[in-house]
Amino acid sequence: MPPMSSSAELVRQARNQGPAVPKKPRRRTALVACMDTRVDPLRLMDAEIGDIHIVRNAGAVVTDDVVRSLIASTNWLGVDKVQIMMHTDCGALGLTRDVAVEKLGPTAPDLAGFTSTEDELRRGVDRLRSEPLIAAPKGITGWIYDLGTGESRLVIS
Ligand SMILES: [Zn+2]
Repeated sequence: MPPMSSSAELVRQARNQGPAVPKKPRRRTALVACMDTRVDPLRLMDAEIGDIHIVRNAGAVVTDDVVRSLIASTNWLGVDKVQIMMHTDCGALGLTRDVAVEKLGPTAPDLAGFTSTEDELRRGVDRLRSEPLIAAPKGITGWIYDLGTGESRLVIS
């Protein structure tokens, strides 16, 4: 007779009986996306759990931690393609040093905001392409998702 199960254990067992989710993304793709509530990365990519890696932060800005995640993704987890997906009406647009200091005072950290979405997208793609430890032979591209139309536009191919 099996030992009595806690409800947490029952939930774990039920989940394990579902379709297997691979550790390595099926599509070998990583998406850098904004944390914005209106951006749904899986829907945007017509993907489901297990298909892609999603690295999210405020603005889809390529920060040191995004680079760290993509080094792991491309060297250990089979990813060979990276897409940066910025979007219109982003909260990080205009989040300058002056705005941060006005709200948080002179010790405000750098919030990595930007004043031009396309320029920031270019900077992010260039940074990833220049990182020798990121291995993405199928390419690193830059996209802008238009919240108004629901369309994603390839800006940097
Ligand atoms: Zn955003």
